[in-house]
Amino acid sequence: METVIRNANLADGQRGVDVAIDGGRITAIGRALPLKGAHEIDAGGDLLSAPFVDAHFHMDATLSYGLPRVNASGTLLEGIALWGELKPDLTQQALVERALQYCDWAAARGLLAIRSHVDICDDRLLAVEALLEVKRQVAPYLDLQLVAFPQDGVLRSPTALANLKRAIGMGVDVVGGIPHFERSMADGAESVRILCEFAAERGLMVDMHCDESDDPMSRHIETLAYHSHRLGLHGRVAGSHLTSMHSMDNYYVSKLLPLIREAGVAAIANPLINITLQGRHDSYPKRRGMTRVPELLAAGIDVAFGHDCVMDPWYSLGSGDMLEVAHMGLHVAQMTGQDAMRACYQAVTAAPARILGLSGYGVAVGCHADLVLLDAADPVEAIRLRAARRLVMRRGRVIAESPRAQARLNLPGRPQTVDFRLDLPREIHDN
Ligand SMILES: [Zn+2]
Repeated sequence: METVIRNANLADGQRGVDVAIDGGRITAIGRALPLKGAHEIDAGGDLLSAPFVDAHFHMDATLSYGLPRVNASGTLLEGIALWGELKPDLTQQALVERALQYCDWAAARGLLAIRSHVDICDDRLLAVEALLEVKRQVAPYLDLQLVAFPQDGVLRSPTALANLKRAIGMGVDVVGGIPHFERSMADGAESVRILCEFAAERGLMVDMHCDESDDPMSRHIETLAYHSHRLGLHGRVAGSHLTSMHSMDNYYVSKLLPLIREAGVAAIANPLINITLQGRHDSYPKRRGMTRVPELLAAGIDVAFGHDCVMDPWYSLGSGDMLEVAHMGLHVAQMTGQDAMRACYQAVTAAPARILGLSGYGVAVGCHADLVLLDAADPVEAIRLRAARRLVMRRGRVIAESPRAQARLNLPGRPQTVDFRLDLPREIHDN
């Protein structure tokens, strides 16, 4: 046996189990496994999790903060305009370097799978070439899935549809879209039809920026669900953002949610970005703008939380930490019950893994030995502390390590160190 990790807690509630790893896969899980590993790792009762997965990111824009200037209004539309100013000056080398730096951050945070949109509206397709190169370089330690994203609108931008098809031909995985940015509601609906039919014809997945707006009449998710169902794309389509749903009429939503469920369309919220970009036209009260996460989950719809942006024209913060994303999602959606908090952890692990269609993902016999050992006892504590990643493993090999979060104290009569952990009774229930 190559490696045995002893005395770990798992995200599904199992406690004090051993996990054996051989040939890059998990070969056994159980209490006190009678196996000897060439490497023995003591988890010490900490949470051993499958890696974090980001279902929604923009790796072509990341780490470009301040180029050529910052977003003064903080709005989505100024961000898109700013990105337009930056695009002509992009070089492939700079794109690759920034993306690789972000992937270093991601690996160190135990974020080992990312779906990144890549803007295909620049006829040079520089960003596509750059991110395909990055995908190749990071493949040993990170699964990078690319979405052909027509940022300026597949109909509104004259060459976008042809570019999108070229990008898919070059090896981009997923069909993207942005119906709410087209010139009219009708064009938005038409763009959804065209893109879903193209995906169906080519056997591809779909992930559209959909209704990223506070306009309650922005209802392209209905059209996306309609065409997904009509074309048999169940389980292969995601609607990203869906922020207009926050402001929609409640009666309309009561009809909409079962249609999304029926169509097998998943939802991807981006809490850090939605809470900062939406509601910008409001005075007070200001809407939160994030989609209806608890209601989507209750309707049986897969919901993931994405990071969306890190240090780019739309968002000036972030460090590739999906626990920070889950933490914000939990607050914005008021998902404070025990089950709800665990669902927020699922929204940055198992749910996006399903949406991306990752194979061999999970902590179970036969799965890839892609694992993160957290400085926390369970998923809720991991979110509370945005816990340090003691160890990140890819295919059984340790690729990153961090120290436990601990501070030295110098207070008379008090302990010399403090670590913010708290031993709680084994099971805490909502009521
Ligand atoms: Zn996005």
